[in-house]
Amino acid sequence: MKKPFVSLEKIKEIAKTYPTPFHIYDQKGIVNNMNELLDAFSWNKGFKEYFAVKATPSPEIIKLLKKGGCGVDCSSYTELLMAEKLGFSGDEIMFSSNETEAKEYILARKLNVIINLDDITHIEYLEEHAGIPKKISLRYNPGGEFKIGTSIMGNPAEAKYGLTTEQMYEAVKILMKKGVKEFGVHAFLASNTIGNEYYPALSKVLFNRIVDIKKQTGANFVFVNLSGGIGVPYRPEDPKADIYKISNGVKKAYDEILIPAGMENIKIFTELGRYMLAPYGGLVTQVIHFKHTHKEYVGVDACAAHLMRPAIYGAYHHISVLGKEDMEPNYKCDVVGSLCENSDKFAIDRVIPKVDRGDYLFIHDAGAHGHAMGYNYNGKLRSAEILLNEDGSYRLIRRAEIPKDYFATLDILPEFQD
Ligand SMILES: *Cc1c(COP(=O)(O)O)cnc(C)c1O
Repeated sequence: MKKPFVSLEKIKEIAKTYPTPFHIYDQKGIVNNMNELLDAFSWNKGFKEYFAVKATPSPEIIKLLKKGGCGVDCSSYTELLMAEKLGFSGDEIMFSSNETEAKEYILARKLNVIINLDDITHIEYLEEHAGIPKKISLRYNPGGEFKIGTSIMGNPAEAKYGLTTEQMYEAVKILMKKGVKEFGVHAFLASNTIGNEYYPALSKVLFNRIVDIKKQTGANFVFVNLSGGIGVPYRPEDPKADIYKISNGVKKAYDEILIPAGMENIKIFTELGRYMLAPYGGLVTQVIHFKHTHKEYVGVDACAAHLMRPAIYGAYHHISVLGKEDMEPNYKCDVVGSLCENSDKFAIDRVIPKVDRGDYLFIHDAGAHGHAMGYNYNGKLRSAEILLNEDGSYRLIRRAEIPKDYFATLDILPEFQD
């Protein structure tokens, strides 16, 4: 059973001030989960989580993670600006971009962040536009299929990211000549993994690789960045990742591969997004219409512009009817938004308790890659974000868009100047 972290009474109270739809986040859940991650990896002296900003670029949420000691992983110019505004600097920022623009590298160097190079040709490009730093990371793509046992976890051969094995050696040699003193390695080979095997398997690949690169080139490696990819149980029957088991699996590989190679100071980094936040955010929306045609439809005041994952990936997001959590689910329907797009369905043939107009639905696991993927198609306006504290107090951490925001970039036209 998936239970919302907020009650109907609380949502009614909040909706008086901030109308639905809105995203709501559970401060206690976020902090507890972060502390568990940090505790699980405390065996590694330099462990650091660089929260993937793109998952939830919401400053008040990122501040909670900063307080706990997390850094940030940025993917673009604007995310770097946000990191700077929030007081992150230098080694607290990882810059994992691809098809990077010169102005992004220039800002990254100005902030002295750790650049995670996505391609060997970027060495020259970076040197030309911003200069080569003393510390740099390389994103690795071993190609082929990424398998654990017999199951395929990812398909690196089809992924646009990273350097090939051959290029890794070549890049390290070039960068050493250009004065790089410290190297890191990064790879993201599978997304939203369930089970506890992904990080341990990835660690083995990366640990073995850097041991060999060091042997061949003498390069000084200082960190291994396992990136994102730990999944969350979107479906009620999915297992929850056991972060202690995951961490122990990484430690085992560390002890077996890095320690004997004399690389016992390697820091482990992560760039988790989904795992840090998805379960601790929900999209709250109100039932406004019913439609009985070829199917049963429940129409809500949110749409794919507020949570895109079901529409573009066919992703499952569990839905609770607030106040009816214990009622028998016996009503089969599609829960749909108002976009002129038939993919705008939060759920298809879902069986939920009988709902009434005015009921509030809680769409689970929207805390990462939720609000962040919002867009303005059909003139839809992005929703507010609200942070709920353990004591029941709450505050607005991002206001909802208003029509003026939608028209903001049209202020070059006379009709839209006011
Ligand atoms: C998206 C992304 C992440 C976060 O991925 P999750 O699946 O949310 O954990 C981390 N690192 C990089 C480079 C990414 O692009």
